[in-house]
Amino acid sequence: MTAPHLPISETRIHEKLRILSDAAKYDVSCASSGSKRANHNKGLGDATGMGICHTYTEDGRCVSLLKLLLTNHCIFDCAYCVSRKSNDIKRAAFTIEEVIGLTINFYRRNYIEGLFLSSGIFKNADVTMERLVTIAKKLRTEHKFNGYIHLKTIPGASEELMQQAGLYADRLSVNIEMPTESALKSLAPDKNMNDILTPMSYLSESIVNYTAEKKVIKTSPAFAPAGQSTQMVIGATPETDKDILFTASSLYKNYGLKRVYYSGYVPISTDERMPGIGTPPPVIREHRLYQTDWLLRFYGFSVNEIVNDEHPLLDTDIDPKLSWALRNPAVFPVDINTADYSLILRVPGIGVSSAKKITAARRFGKLDAQQLSKIGVSMNRAKYFIICQGGSFVNIGLQPQLIRHHILSLSSGKFKSAHSPQLTLF
Ligand code: SF4
Repeated sequence: MTAPHLPISETRIHEKLRILSDAAKYDVSCASSGSKRANHNKGLGDATGMGICHTYTEDGRCVSLLKLLLTNHCIFDCAYCVSRKSNDIKRAAFTIEEVIGLTINFYRRNYIEGLFLSSGIFKNADVTMERLVTIAKKLRTEHKFNGYIHLKTIPGASEELMQQAGLYADRLSVNIEMPTESALKSLAPDKNMNDILTPMSYLSESIVNYTAEKKVIKTSPAFAPAGQSTQMVIGATPETDKDILFTASSLYKNYGLKRVYYSGYVPISTDERMPGIGTPPPVIREHRLYQTDWLLRFYGFSVNEIVNDEHPLLDTDIDPKLSWALRNPAVFPVDINTADYSLILRVPGIGVSSAKKITAARRFGKLDAQQLSKIGVSMNRAKYFIICQGGSFVNIGLQPQLIRHHILSLSSGKFKSAHSPQLTLF
């Protein structure tokens, strides 16, 4: 982004914005995606792929956020991070007033609905965290900013500052960074799991306590009403999907996290502690982890049903729900007209919304294939696993290898309809 006609101070801010929004893009703990909005009137800043990300609020609204680092100076040396102290890069730091100014300006121009603010650690954890909190506090109290604020908390920061952060931010995140303590030790020697899990635990308790208090005393302040999230870097160390998902599952269970984000390692680091990292982990791995995460949170699966010692890696060819179904043929076929909601949810091709519609609709009569299609069931998948009004669909029985082959062929477009099991009732 160039700004040849801008005053020097604005050019400096543009330069900082370029450096610090670019450095922030590696943090996915606010569920980001790019946004492009051109600068039409030579105003301050544009959003041409820089600094704007999207996230979802508690009530499901998609909001765009200004995504920044306060600074990319850092006293730590995490091997996987572009801001690590040993990395020879251009450094920059915003002042508190600059971040506030940018947020208000972008907000007024309707470019953003909120702020995602993280930072490298300068001096120490508390000094850094205090500045992040001050920005959120000033935005809320002096500028009456009611937009969404997501603050990244700094590992090792004091409970007082965490408490303040919770009072001004909608969401807080403490990044777990690595799936295991040994991986964290090897790549982030200045960090320790305790400095990450202690604030997570403090936030978890505070969210529960403040929420309970607010139910009784309506005027009590809200504390991080959009909850806390975390990010795990995937593929920088040799952990299996089982290691990653067991860690995620314990974070959901023990710390009440709203989201765990899986960030496929981007090979930006030539650090010698990153052995064999020449190419990024396949995007499909990240995708399968998110699909499994969804199954854990909304489909009633426990983590060891999906990954275990026998199956430590997710199948990259097929989604984890289908993979589980093919490994458990004894569960199927499921009778759509009589089975429990929890069992219907486990049928490949049936999502949460379809399962709810099925249990509601079958009160008025037995459902057949046509009605299931209308409800939104993906019959190309579900047909192998269900019985509905009229019987079952395929005469191949539940032969996992054959079903897998049919579904894969169908999704790759190789399957000629003449060879495909037809929607014929048997
Ligand atoms: S503490 Fe954060 S910003 Fe600093 S090197 Fe580690 S990951 Fe990067």
